[in-house]
Amino acid sequence: MTNLIDLTFHELETLIVSLGEPPYRARQVWQWLWQKGCRDIALMTDVSKALRAKLAEAADIVWPEVVRVRESEDGTVKFLLGLADGEAVECVLIPEKDHYTGCLSTQVGCAMGCGFCATGMLGFKRNMTPGEMLGQVLVARQYLLNKGEPLALRNLVFMGMGEPLLNYENLIKTLESLHHPQGLDFSSRRITVSTAGVKRHLLDLGKTGLCALAVSLHAPTQEQRERIMPGAAKLPLDELIELLRQIPLKPRESLTFEYLLLSGVNDADADARELVRLLSRVKAKVNLIVYNATPGLPFRQPSPERVFAFQEILKAKGLVATVRKSKGADIAAACGQLRAEAACPADDGA
Ligand code: SF4
Repeated sequence: MTNLIDLTFHELETLIVSLGEPPYRARQVWQWLWQKGCRDIALMTDVSKALRAKLAEAADIVWPEVVRVRESEDGTVKFLLGLADGEAVECVLIPEKDHYTGCLSTQVGCAMGCGFCATGMLGFKRNMTPGEMLGQVLVARQYLLNKGEPLALRNLVFMGMGEPLLNYENLIKTLESLHHPQGLDFSSRRITVSTAGVKRHLLDLGKTGLCALAVSLHAPTQEQRERIMPGAAKLPLDELIELLRQIPLKPRESLTFEYLLLSGVNDADADARELVRLLSRVKAKVNLIVYNATPGLPFRQPSPERVFAFQEILKAKGLVATVRKSKGADIAAACGQLRAEAACPADDGA
């Protein structure tokens, strides 16, 4: 059976035409799905009874199921979401000054094998469907509504479990659905797709204009990257930078690079200087992320002094560099941690 939230607007029109109805009816159904968050075809009261009956025979509406919710002291909310086949993924709501940002997963597990990542330890299970990716937005939005939260979910980052560009077709469909003006209506400025770098799709995505791009760099040399990000390092760093140089940017736009500071691994002054040298070839800004220790992984958090010194070297060379504290440290908000815990028999089920 077709899950209606898996369909792009065009695919929904095609389905409705195949049921013998005029294509304009798709708009009504689309608004129920995305603006009203409807989960039952029978409740689409301004859609004709005949169409509702035909739709209900061909399709249903399935959102991910909320298995667990944890709220951090800093307001971060982490969801463990169950999918129809029994798999589970994570989605995080991050409070900002005047809105929430949703951090979305794109795959169950991940094949990239980054050494510092709990999701990487799981290995790859499967790609998520467009409906599963979009379902995270629906669940998170509903959660805020139910709580009477005044701040809205306004920004989305594809930075959760999985490498988005290894699920490219479904990612593009998801972005198209997110943009639809009669639906969720997210502008491309409010969506960021974060990638460790996948050669065959990087440039294509950069040219679509559907989202901003952030590159998970995390190491300033190829040799270091091979050590901590073996999957990503298959695209050599020089080639990655050359591809990024071809992405069209508006006059005041720059590419965002994420750099996770790992104590004693990539946080030395020499690493900062290498990073400056590497990024001198592109218009870049850097988000420095302070690592949160993850159980079972051999990495440590750098001291505040080390983080400051690293940032100062970048700034002294004219690079825009901000420090982002990992939010939700008390609720295992780092990518893959909650799912890893849920799979652990020692878990307390909190
Ligand atoms: S950091 Fe991202 S790309 Fe790397 S293993 Fe984790 S989910 Fe995959």
